[in-house]
Amino acid sequence: MSRRKYCAYCVVERATDREHVFPFSWYPDNTPTTVQRLTVPSCRTCNERWKAVEESIGHDLIMVCDADHPDAVGVVDRIAKGWDGSRATTKEEAAHRERRAQRVLDSTRWAPPHAGTPQVPLKAPDGSAVMASPARVLDQAALASLCEKFMRGLFFSEKKGEELLRSIFVQAHLLPSPGMTTVPAAATPSPDLLSFIAVATKELPIKGSLGPGFRWSRGEGSKGHFWSFTLWGHMNIIATCEPRRIVLAR
Ligand SMILES: [Zn+2]
Repeated sequence: MSRRKYCAYCVVERATDREHVFPFSWYPDNTPTTVQRLTVPSCRTCNERWKAVEESIGHDLIMVCDADHPDAVGVVDRIAKGWDGSRATTKEEAAHRERRAQRVLDSTRWAPPHAGTPQVPLKAPDGSAVMASPARVLDQAALASLCEKFMRGLFFSEKKGEELLRSIFVQAHLLPSPGMTTVPAAATPSPDLLSFIAVATKELPIKGSLGPGFRWSRGEGSKGHFWSFTLWGHMNIIATCEPRRIVLAR
């Protein structure tokens, strides 16, 4: 039996589906028709798992992404439509969309007013008005999972069916960029990751892209791989991938 029949992600279950390595709805409208939207064989369990990851971290990335960026054409609109109850065709769907919109609103946090970002007056507990900037808390674990998904899918496809190690440890960090500021409390990269970032900001030898929406590069170090992903031309994520080590406790 060919190994290709196994899920590219867990490498345990038989593949019954194909999974988009980069979510289908995240491709910008100006993606050339010649760009094939990359898929890899996947099992149902992995499909469901990634769907949840993409939805949670996807909402945060979309909320801080620059909707007007030329490499993000249509993406924010398309995802925001999924939060619009008035576009639903059934009552149940409208309720589902409204719950989703509420979750997005509820998870908005407020940071001290930051120059160059939107500033909104909020009412303090003592009734006075304070200025604050809307912010998202990035779920570091979800961001790492998203990167793991990209890594496994891209590696599988690049190596014609060879999978990454089954048990890997992934760290990921969203870099600040023009139009986006990260406040340290949200995510302080570990010293390990910082040293990888120093390496990764140099040229990584293995490069790829799928239209304007997704670019990546990869390098191989002594400890593992380091990757950089650019979403929609302006969101830069650095990630490291190391084999997970096992310690026997006595
Ligand atoms: Zn699987």
